[in-house]
Amino acid sequence: MPNNLLEELLHNLPKVDLHLHLDGSIRESTLWEIAAQQGIELPAARAEDLTPFMKVTGECGSLLEYLEKFDFVAGFLHQAEVLERIAYEVVEQAAEQNCRYIEVRFGPQLHRSEGLSCEEVIDAVLRGLRRGEADFGVIARGIAACLRHHSPHRNMEVIEAAAAFRERGLAAVDLAGPEAAFPAHLHRAVFEYAQLLDMPVTIHAGEAGGADNIHEAIVRLGASRIGHGVRLRENPNVLNLVRERQIVLEMCPLSNFQTKAMESWETYPIREYFDAGLKLTINTDNLTVSDTSLVKEYTVLIEKFGFTPSEIASLILNGVDAAFLPAADKERLRADFLQAFALLGLRPPAPPSSISAAG
Ligand SMILES: [Zn+2]
Repeated sequence: MPNNLLEELLHNLPKVDLHLHLDGSIRESTLWEIAAQQGIELPAARAEDLTPFMKVTGECGSLLEYLEKFDFVAGFLHQAEVLERIAYEVVEQAAEQNCRYIEVRFGPQLHRSEGLSCEEVIDAVLRGLRRGEADFGVIARGIAACLRHHSPHRNMEVIEAAAAFRERGLAAVDLAGPEAAFPAHLHRAVFEYAQLLDMPVTIHAGEAGGADNIHEAIVRLGASRIGHGVRLRENPNVLNLVRERQIVLEMCPLSNFQTKAMESWETYPIREYFDAGLKLTINTDNLTVSDTSLVKEYTVLIEKFGFTPSEIASLILNGVDAAFLPAADKERLRADFLQAFALLGLRPPAPPSSISAAG
């Protein structure tokens, strides 16, 4: 298929993005305006000149270089109006990609320097998401992230606040941050509390740390989904566990490449995992920092790993099944997607016998 037709087909596919960070997806023009409103001077003469500070362009040198992009925006994100605006604009960006369902994650404790409580941070983000849903017709949910380098006390606060917003669009809790230095087992008590409150759990694991973290996340922290999971193959027993329990991997190819979760594209195990019957989903991680879109991510799969458009469609349906939504909502979404795929001439493989009740 010629490249332009393929790109058009990929654009037209209805999509989902389950792994998308709020602070990694801020438009340069928006940051420019926020800085002006807050009277903060930026090291650039125009909004366009912010690109090197906010985006990884070309080959990223290291994980550290990747994380510097988050440090650059961190100081601007402590006011409710700002959080609401950037959440709203993430929904807008999803709509531009013909993405129909998104889960936007953020660390409530990272936005409190000007006095907001965890509840106020969550409320502001969810307001932006709801406004975006109404204006752009994208279903949008929030995921509250605990941080690996934060104390159990601060992370418990996040879990508690998240649970209070469960009926208002806060779909799940997550664990993010420096995986290598702070392994998953340090956070058992926090996630036992999340399970006690019946909050769905996804955990970043197997990105900068090994397969042990994935095992811990599933067995002790109650994760039904794993963020990235690139290093799963380092332990065949854990890989079998992930397959048997149909744990969902939220893979983010361009981000995984940029953060050096694998040495090179040749060693990226996405084809291997797909062929082994693992439940994979494809996500963007950070629209701005990774300078990506779902179309770019799918294009990597097609060009570097030989995925077909029908296989991409089946990955998208995995995302629908794995959504932290009630089963009836997922079935509706699945039916809509199947109809759209059929109109585009795609026939993804038969659906699994049951839709997981993660929501
Ligand atoms: Zn992430």
